[in-house]
Amino acid sequence: MINKLIVIGIDGMDFDVVKKYEKDLPTISKLLSDNNYPRLRSVFPADTTPAWSTIYTGLDPTQHGIINFVNVKDRDNSYKPFEFDDSVFKGKTFWDKLNEMGYSTTVLLPMNIKNGWDINGTMVTRPYKGEMHVYPSSKESLYKPDFSILGTESKFTSESQLKILKEEFFKKSDEEFRLTKCAIENEDCDFLFSYFSTTDGLCHDFWRHCDENHPEYPGENEFMYAIKDLYIKMDNHLNEIISLCPDTPLLLISDHGHGARPVYVARVNEMLRRFGYLAPKTSNGTKKSKKSLKGLIKKTALNFVARFGLPKWAVKIARKVPVWKGLFASGNDFDWDKTVAYLSDLSALKNYSYGGIRVIADDDKKDALCDEIIKKLKTVMIDENTPAFLWIKRTNTHYSGQYLHRYPEIIFQLDESYGADWNLGDELFEKKGFMHRLSPGAHRYETAVIGAKGIELKKAQYEMTDIRDVILSVFK
Ligand SMILES: [Zn+2]
Repeated sequence: MINKLIVIGIDGMDFDVVKKYEKDLPTISKLLSDNNYPRLRSVFPADTTPAWSTIYTGLDPTQHGIINFVNVKDRDNSYKPFEFDDSVFKGKTFWDKLNEMGYSTTVLLPMNIKNGWDINGTMVTRPYKGEMHVYPSSKESLYKPDFSILGTESKFTSESQLKILKEEFFKKSDEEFRLTKCAIENEDCDFLFSYFSTTDGLCHDFWRHCDENHPEYPGENEFMYAIKDLYIKMDNHLNEIISLCPDTPLLLISDHGHGARPVYVARVNEMLRRFGYLAPKTSNGTKKSKKSLKGLIKKTALNFVARFGLPKWAVKIARKVPVWKGLFASGNDFDWDKTVAYLSDLSALKNYSYGGIRVIADDDKKDALCDEIIKKLKTVMIDENTPAFLWIKRTNTHYSGQYLHRYPEIIFQLDESYGADWNLGDELFEKKGFMHRLSPGAHRYETAVIGAKGIELKKAQYEMTDIRDVILSVFK
């Protein structure tokens, strides 16, 4: 029995998807409608790792620092994945705080936590380096987390794998629920946090097949209800959790929304070039042929991947080394002596509709230069009525923590149909995205989900930094 609060975290659950399938999701919609459909905004950028770090600690990404962007301009141009271990969280999460206040907690499969640690209560960690840990170890025989299901790396490799992939996601969700149910039936503690992973992964891979408004929707197909069915499964899980603990307050949250990855590109570097902030490498005889060769490799590689999939060894390498980086964004593209602003890798590689711009200037002149660039970019229009940027601002007007320097100086949200593109070109806007072919779904910033029962959600708009307080307030 869980006595005081259950928190269910669902990765990538999207507000608009819940609305779309609302009639089929009675439990989730009640959690939202009973609170007048409050909104929850993700962190910027809306990535899983910084978002859950914020949920755990209540700190924004410039305060907790669990964030990293690869700077394309870096001379060594080497990719260093951002490494962190449990010490950045240990003692700082909401469950640690509850332990400190004297409450017992059960924490299941928490995102971002690697080896885990002993807490007042029970922790079952996610698969990490081939292992899962149960604390205390005496409870291993009670939970028996199934590594063969939870440890699968569900990842898009080719169209022909979609059916297997879908089955993996659904099985994983059932195993995550089995552990949750096991905790509810066997623990006697104050608090349960259970993290469900699969909504995000499934949307990344199946978005195009399920969204009839997507420019590349294939028409009726065997996967057209994959997302809906997984949401229904989550709704059933929640319904069962509530029936097992009818009197325990429950909070439902996601870390960001999910939608289509843009298939149209907005050439932000080209905009900067036209305003005189960025200069391409001076032309010489080889430039043009080199550029078109790059384009050809990219096209060929992507056609190959879409048809035949990535061979296993390539998937392994791609996870460690950004094989795409050299193809899509290169520090050799521009004349750095004449460039003061360029697209941040944050959006260039992922083709997301949100992103950032790096600005090079002395500290005392930087803000003024940023403001000047922002003012000009605000005038860029997709068509007569549609500005390219929904918003664009100096990052230091949004966040102010000690890790602010890890961010590009300017952040922005484009019209959601457009992904920021690194390359220069004759057209500022074009249907020419590529990442959507490898991963048709993409995270959204404004559309995370928050719902509750037995807790009053008073705000109409929540930020990720509020979630920790919402949880702790139940215990005050
Ligand atoms: Zn996520």
